[in-house]
Amino acid sequence: MTYPATNFTSNPPRLRVLIVGAGLSGLCIANSLLRDPAQRFDVSVFERDTVAFDSERGGYQIRLGQDGITGLKTCLSPETYLELSQAWGQELSRAPAIFQPTDGTILAKLAELKLYPQSRAVPRTALKEYLVRLPMERGALHFGRRVDSLVYQDNGDVSEVVLKFEDGSKIVIAADGSRSKASSLNRLAGLNNVKLLAGTAVCQGRGKIDASTRAKLPKILLDNGSLLYLSGETTGFCAVYELKDARGNPTEDSFLFWGHNGPEKIADLFAGTDDDDDTKAGRMAEHMVRDLGFDPQILPEVVRIGNRNLKAGQLSSSTTPHDWREGVAQRGRLIFIGDSIHAMTPSRGQGANQAMRDAAELSNLLLGNSIDAESPRTRLTDKDALALAKKFDEEMYPRAFGWVKASETAGNVDTTTWSGYLKMSLFLNAVRLGGLAVTLRDSLGLGTSKTLTF
Ligand SMILES: Cc1cc2nc3c(=O)[nH]c(=O)nc-3n(C[C@H](O)[C@H](O)[C@H](O)COP(=O)(O)OP(=O)(O)OC[C@H]3O[C@@H](n4cnc5c(N)ncnc54)[C@H](O)[C@@H]3O)c2cc1C
Repeated sequence: MTYPATNFTSNPPRLRVLIVGAGLSGLCIANSLLRDPAQRFDVSVFERDTVAFDSERGGYQIRLGQDGITGLKTCLSPETYLELSQAWGQELSRAPAIFQPTDGTILAKLAELKLYPQSRAVPRTALKEYLVRLPMERGALHFGRRVDSLVYQDNGDVSEVVLKFEDGSKIVIAADGSRSKASSLNRLAGLNNVKLLAGTAVCQGRGKIDASTRAKLPKILLDNGSLLYLSGETTGFCAVYELKDARGNPTEDSFLFWGHNGPEKIADLFAGTDDDDDTKAGRMAEHMVRDLGFDPQILPEVVRIGNRNLKAGQLSSSTTPHDWREGVAQRGRLIFIGDSIHAMTPSRGQGANQAMRDAAELSNLLLGNSIDAESPRTRLTDKDALALAKKFDEEMYPRAFGWVKASETAGNVDTTTWSGYLKMSLFLNAVRLGGLAVTLRDSLGLGTSKTLTF
């Protein structure tokens, strides 16, 4: 497939930036580059999906920490950022409570812990609605365009990165997430650092529920909004939140989400193509009661009620990449951001935050670069592109891969055992007293203390 070249014949010539993936990071950086006052960038975003922001599939909330907020503030226009910030305005009280799934004891309400990193929750669909606005308005967003091959074409000191349906480009930003599998740019470029976590699986359910269904949810979930549990090799999360209409007013409906991580064999509970969702959810609920000793009235009940859009899969994580550019200057024209390079488990809620922070850092480098509005095509040599890419990686690697590591250790506590319970209690007391908190917090992998700056 050849993408029409109309965008690329602008006068004065602009630096062509091809973004693969209209996810959170790809859309963030597209917004930022499209807002360049000198209009030096000819931005095209290619998304494999036809509709990238379907409400059922993407219906979970994203908790925005400082990195996510910085990313959005940098990339969006002040007006759009202000509008979006109203969508998360009142959400702090809904930070998850850690609870004991066997008996429903609340161990901690994270929103009340001063040292727990602050965050704001925003529905992923709302976030996307704001992020797609400008790229759509400018005709820069192309749905149904899957990129599945990539070549570097040597043209002296100004090389092209060629995508399958393309006739050439100057910079490609890989923002294709971690679910792209064999055709991911990560593999095509030879990084191969994003891996499925062997031996683990995640089962999820999500969907819209009406008021009468919501009323049947366990009180502990209704009271706390979202719950987190750490039971050794099984960890999980569930949340319910009111859905708002396009004007931000509450509706009668709510959104329910649950995710349960555990050993690989839990995926079998959702196997059986002939079984309906009720049967599959029932198997999960039974497993929680029989094998894990969970209180039947809490999580198993949430699973029975949240029996739509059931999905089982493996978690992805990543390792810090080797020097995959190997000094080849033209490889500087391909830059990875977000899950496409630093996939991490969801336990710390940092994947999107780091992805959006990447977008901000990279756009700062591109916007701050001396790319000349009059003749950018000739000014960004391979050497310049490589220097820019290296500078980006130097900031991103320690930041994002630090979170990758922390995310893998977050599930190491088992509050259903005495030692795990003690560890958690010590941590919580330390946090309350403000004393030993840092050491214990790190051993639990829970977070860092920061106040949000908007
Ligand atoms: C249930 C759940 C809860 C989460 N909660 C949080 C949270 O609270 N906080 C947080 O920070 N993170 C959270 N995350 C993680 C977060 O969603 C991801 O880290 C984030 O979406 C990564 O953004 P991205 O732009 O890198 O990739 P994505 O958002 O995954 O976007 C990638 C896009 O690329 C497209 N694509 C893929 N391959 C191709 C191709 N070959 N050609 C064209 N397009 C392609 C995909 O269709 C997709 O639209 C959560 C994740 C899950 C599953």
